[in-house]
Amino acid sequence: MKIPILMYHQIDAPPPRGTALRGLVVAPSSFAWQMRMLRRLGYKGLSMRDLEPYLLGEKQDKVVGITFDDGYQNNVIHALPILKTHGFTATCYGVSSMIGGTNAWDIGKVAQKPLMSLEDWRVWNESGMDVGSHTQVHANLTELTKEAALQQVVQSKYELEQTLGIEVRHFCYPYGWFKTEHEDMVRSAGYITATSTRRGRVQIGENPYALKRIMVARATNPLQFFLKILTPYEDRRA
Ligand SMILES: [Zn+2]
Repeated sequence: MKIPILMYHQIDAPPPRGTALRGLVVAPSSFAWQMRMLRRLGYKGLSMRDLEPYLLGEKQDKVVGITFDDGYQNNVIHALPILKTHGFTATCYGVSSMIGGTNAWDIGKVAQKPLMSLEDWRVWNESGMDVGSHTQVHANLTELTKEAALQQVVQSKYELEQTLGIEVRHFCYPYGWFKTEHEDMVRSAGYITATSTRRGRVQIGENPYALKRIMVARATNPLQFFLKILTPYEDRRA
């Protein structure tokens, strides 16, 4: 059985036409529809933490991973209430040095949006949601020296854990960029999984440090959503 892990970024009203990366902003009504459909199809939406036993093959069920990259404040505002309605959990991958900031790594390219504040992260965590790491500064690991990349991987985990008083078990490569050496760093830093932007559903027993995901974008229509979850539609695009 293959496990789909959904990749979201922002859940918010669409920005004006022509805005860069507008496609990554999914309307709250679309997100609500998608979660409702998953439940109707008999799926449980799970954070990476809650997905662990399924990825290890210890448990089997109709499950879908739900992940959010970057830690936008609109995830708490719009996605959290919908997730709670269905009894679903999700992982949000935060950028540890930018809590309460904006997506500053995108300056000049993409509209600046508020990231979750410390209080938002507390609410997220206390609602049973999972916190993952997306490095300290949304770093492209492949552009860094080995030492600098290792710092991003190790320190972000430490900072999130210290700041929030939680355990951070899951990692996500910013921009989807990584090499084998980065997989080794993530493993040795104590993470259980790392997600990428490679497309497809996950086969149990696959390398947990290069997990494929299924991107859900603004333009993902209901038919595509079904196809992505239920069929090899995405697997073929890997
Ligand atoms: Zn990102």
